[in-house]
Amino acid sequence: MSSFPKCSNCGGLIIGHIWPNRSCYDCHELETEDGEVTNHERIRCPKCGHQEDVFESEKYHLAKEDGGETSCGECGHDYFVNCYITYTFTSPERIQDVPAASGKGEPCDARR
Ligand SMILES: [Zn+2]
Ligand SMILES: [Zn+2]
Repeated sequence: MSSFPKCSNCGGLIIGHIWPNRSCYDCHELETEDGEVTNHERIRCPKCGHQEDVFESEKYHLAKEDGGETSCGECGHDYFVNCYITYTFTSPERIQDVPAASGKGEPCDARR
């Protein structure tokens, strides 16, 4: 029952501002920004502007530290893509101090 609109380009949910063409910020940037663009899954050919999804187009070899070279599926232009991997560490939950089994109430001779 999500009420977030979907990006017409990448299909992702748009949580912030909706840019023209119903695109999310990342896609908007890929389409309008002439300089370097950073995106979580899409790459853009510097020559023709064709965008590809790294994971859907099976360019998995780019999804590693330092990226790699690829060629555009549209115009065949070879270009280099950088990739930065951020690590997220998840530690287990805190171990609760389990009170002793008989730990209910006060010590026997606290109130006498
Ligand atoms: Zn998008
Ligand atoms: Zn191209």
